[in-house]
Amino acid sequence: MHLVFLGAPGAGKGTQAKVLASRILVPHVSTGDIFRAAIKNGTPVGVEAKGFLDRGELVPDAVVCRIVRERLAEADCRKGFILDGFPRTVPQAESLSVSLVELGLPLKAVVNFTIDRNELVARLSSRVTCRSCGTVFNLESNPPKVAGCCDSCGGETYVREDDRPETVARRLEEYDRKTAPLEAWYRERGLLREVVASGTVTNVTAALDRVVGG
Ligand code: AMP
Repeated sequence: MHLVFLGAPGAGKGTQAKVLASRILVPHVSTGDIFRAAIKNGTPVGVEAKGFLDRGELVPDAVVCRIVRERLAEADCRKGFILDGFPRTVPQAESLSVSLVELGLPLKAVVNFTIDRNELVARLSSRVTCRSCGTVFNLESNPPKVAGCCDSCGGETYVREDDRPETVARRLEEYDRKTAPLEAWYRERGLLREVVASGTVTNVTAALDRVVGG
């Protein structure tokens, strides 16, 4: 099952992608995670991307499209994948369609996680992330059992640089201007499915299951 998860930062795409990917046994391909790992490891891509992530801006299309194309060509993506955080612009969506045709991989659906803007900002301001495995917690609704320590792997949790209020505003602007047009783009192509992303992780997972058919 080849899926794209769309939605504003903080809508919960990453959390839902992890849950579903581990259940249906397909890779969870998160471009944000790929960039954060590249930055941590000091690779050339990391050096190029760092300034964009720090400012809450999108990394240039050419860089992201190349990375995703290479990742989707790997053998583990043949039976399925969940693309989380890509595409984020119309040129990226066009590039993805070309890559999928070339690779012979059919896109089953694009799931759009929708959520009220105030709830989004509240979520982002109480979000902490595991430095090692990327698991996301919410200090209000879903805190780690031991403060500062990831439930899944024991790694250290931290506030992502780009979850600070000034950068959140910039990321939401980028979303509205460059990513929101993808909703209409995929709707016109008959691929868009909506999931209301407010509420608990479990409720959203149930809504997602109804949309993608488990
Ligand atoms: P995320 O973890 O998905 O919120 O992504 C974190 C940051 O990585 C974004 O704010 C961008 O700077 C960068 N990024 C991730 N995915 C993309 C993409 N598809 N296009 C451009 N930049 C991206």
